[in-house]
Amino acid sequence: MCFEVKERDLCGRIGVLKTRRGNIETPYVMPVVNPIRNIIEPSELKSEFGFNMIITNSYIIWKHYKDNIKDVHEITKFDGPIMTDSGAYQLLVYGDIEVSNKEIIEYQEKIGSDIGVILDVPTGAHASREEAEYTVMETIRRAKESISYRKEKDILWAGPIQGGTYLDLLEYCAKEIGKMDFHIHPLGSPTQILEEYNYSKIVDMIVTAKRVLPPERAFHLFGAGHPMMLSLAVALGCDLFDSAAYALYAKDGRYMTQNGTMRIEELKELPCCCPVCNKYSAKELMEMEKENREKLIAKHNLYKVKEEIKLIKEAIREGTLWELLEARCRSHPRLYEAFKRLSLYVDYIEENDPVVNKKVRGLFFYDETSIMRPEILRYKKRIIERYTKPKDKLILVPMPKEKPFNKSKIFKKLKKIVGDEYHICFYGDPFGIVPSELSETFPLSQFESALDNMKTWKSFAIEFIKSKEYKEVIIIGEELEGAKSLSSINDLEKYFRCKNENIS
Ligand SMILES: [Zn+2]
Repeated sequence: MCFEVKERDLCGRIGVLKTRRGNIETPYVMPVVNPIRNIIEPSELKSEFGFNMIITNSYIIWKHYKDNIKDVHEITKFDGPIMTDSGAYQLLVYGDIEVSNKEIIEYQEKIGSDIGVILDVPTGAHASREEAEYTVMETIRRAKESISYRKEKDILWAGPIQGGTYLDLLEYCAKEIGKMDFHIHPLGSPTQILEEYNYSKIVDMIVTAKRVLPPERAFHLFGAGHPMMLSLAVALGCDLFDSAAYALYAKDGRYMTQNGTMRIEELKELPCCCPVCNKYSAKELMEMEKENREKLIAKHNLYKVKEEIKLIKEAIREGTLWELLEARCRSHPRLYEAFKRLSLYVDYIEENDPVVNKKVRGLFFYDETSIMRPEILRYKKRIIERYTKPKDKLILVPMPKEKPFNKSKIFKKLKKIVGDEYHICFYGDPFGIVPSELSETFPLSQFESALDNMKTWKSFAIEFIKSKEYKEVIIIGEELEGAKSLSSINDLEKYFRCKNENIS
């Protein structure tokens, strides 16, 4: 087993990828290194930033050195694990490359890659359906044939998933390649889609592939490494990332932050405390030679990537990845749109989100997106499927401010009026319905909510009443289908007095 999951939150995980040159803790962003020339030397990536694994391109090495074969670790002067890409990206950009799948697989073995990638055929973002079908069938065929080309035992092999935005094709590709002997599955083709800020599409693509791939394999989102979107990708189950953005952005003076990208020439203040931003002012960066500036911005960008990964890992350990997502996804409307898209996949998230061994901590609810939290879905499912009502008659009252609800004044008053004849439940967002006897169960009294008047509880209340077949339902302070409505507790008191007088 080359990948071991240690901790989980939502579909995100902290794992250990075991390579022949050492273990890498995931989620992990591999800096993309050019085999020939770099603004930051690979050895610096390790010594200064602690990046213990990098990715480079075997096709560029092949073009440059051909049969004068050298070890990739020697070329890059990097002694940690190295993943090599195959030239598929060049295939996407230039349409054709001069090497075959068999040649590049054998070449990656010869140069000592620790993780190799087959020469898949990228679908890209704008392929016609016909073209997309071809890329999928050809990628599957090449994945299959690649297995017989392998000679060395201890290299990890990546089988990319193609299909692009055609989700049915993507699913088919993931199913077929998932059956084959691969260790890592990269999601192909997201680069262009990411450049267009189409994060919703990326969400669809990740979930489509992840749902059918073996969960014990590491999942790699190709070409993604901007700190602002890492938490979303991790929360959906991505373990590995690679990024050339730190260097490409620096070239254009683009300064990364967790909330987006800024232009260095427009900054008065460097809003960061990394070693670069502590040492230099924005003005000093602008006044220095271009090459120096580029290197320093690239370094800052790498610090930001690293910082975000640390934050994400800690959030997974703490069980607060959802809160991190809520904050990050507000940094760009397209990211927020992608976050809302999770409403289509709450079942997938709920299934993967751990139920046990999770720290018990309060949940925060801000707005309608918070209602998508897996804890809410899980609670509602269980209350419908597993809960047995204690009595046949029901009184619904609004959730009081005091927690736990069954210790509130309103509950005590109600108890006095209705005695043991009625089952008392609380209604409101985010839980929909809370039976009074469950009020102290997690998370029904361990939450803070700023939700106001969303009324998403109504449809759930109707479902609850129907599924439990109550004989009589009284609701206070609201109208509800199939329930007698009373406006206040005083009205309830009068109603009961009359009822009792009539009986006597
Ligand atoms: Zn900085």
